[in-house]
Amino acid sequence: MSIFWSSTAAALTPYVPGEQPAEGSMIKLNTNENPYPPSPVVLEAIRRAVDGNLRLYPDPNASRLTAAIAARFALTPGEVFVGNGSDEILAFAFQAFFDRDQPVLFPDVTYSFYSVYANLFNLPFTTVPLDGQFRILPADYQRPNSGIILPNPNAPTAIGLPLRQIRELLEGNAGHVVIVDEAYIDFGGESAVPLIAEYPNLLVIHTLSKSRSLAGLRVGYALGQPELIEGLNRVKNSFNSYTLDRLALVGAEASFMDEAYTRSNITRIVQTRENTRSALERLGFSVTDSEANFLFVSHPAMPAPVIFRKLREQGILVRYFDKPRIDDYLRITVGTDTEMAALLKAMVEIL
Ligand code: PMP
Repeated sequence: MSIFWSSTAAALTPYVPGEQPAEGSMIKLNTNENPYPPSPVVLEAIRRAVDGNLRLYPDPNASRLTAAIAARFALTPGEVFVGNGSDEILAFAFQAFFDRDQPVLFPDVTYSFYSVYANLFNLPFTTVPLDGQFRILPADYQRPNSGIILPNPNAPTAIGLPLRQIRELLEGNAGHVVIVDEAYIDFGGESAVPLIAEYPNLLVIHTLSKSRSLAGLRVGYALGQPELIEGLNRVKNSFNSYTLDRLALVGAEASFMDEAYTRSNITRIVQTRENTRSALERLGFSVTDSEANFLFVSHPAMPAPVIFRKLREQGILVRYFDKPRIDDYLRITVGTDTEMAALLKAMVEIL
């Protein structure tokens, strides 16, 4: 341990992100990126911004992007907060809404950044077990808490929670913020955005990293009633007076000008996902119901870490989690049809 570290830094267990190998060196199915490029409209807007005024600071309030997002969801700009990826918004939300008196609740199998942020901000948390089929049971969240956070669909299970169950969570926890992290919602889940008008305790978080092919731009946004958005702004403005850089602002705004492009990629990915699911099932895999751009799979005849290693040797990177309950599973991002054909061919050789 370094003599320079504070006791806080020494106590931290940082998040370990999925591997990012040298570009083009592997078939990369390990971090749920979109296999298709961003819309040409986005790329053109960024090119123009590169030739424009990068010497000037960006709009601290991200007004144009905020207005475009508000228009897209029939909300007001006061109901929208934008950030550098949804990870940054999650960090702000943990500080804005959760406290030390009661634990924040989240599923025992979920996005691993939640426990990292709880530890970083010194917030107590309780993990709520999924049931035997990896489902979230809203009744289990009726216990003292300072707030709830869960992804819908959940990651890495890919399983979605129906809207009526989100309602149950919101109604059972009226005095506390319920954060629904909809990073993968565009691939088939039921979005909670239409519930925002009804529930002042609901915050929905979206990202441009998945369905909009912009993981490299780092843009996410949160939607909720103005009081919650104000809470996020207080934390953010205490941390950084500029919201996004100029390229991210214009690129993200342009993405909302080309919805047809995003929709057609989603359709392709969902089709590929279902074809891949059937093919994996024919090879003996069990595959959870996916409403996301990834598949959560296990094989009765071969341990997941062995499949992971053998795929890696063949240049295919998927995600393995060395964690209780899910160490028999692999999470496989849905790539192009060509990438999935290579994956299936490799699986046939391995099994
Ligand atoms: N939430 C979930 C459930 C995720 O899987 C991810 C992606 N790793 C994120 C949030 C963060 O996405 P980003 O910061 O790229 O918006």
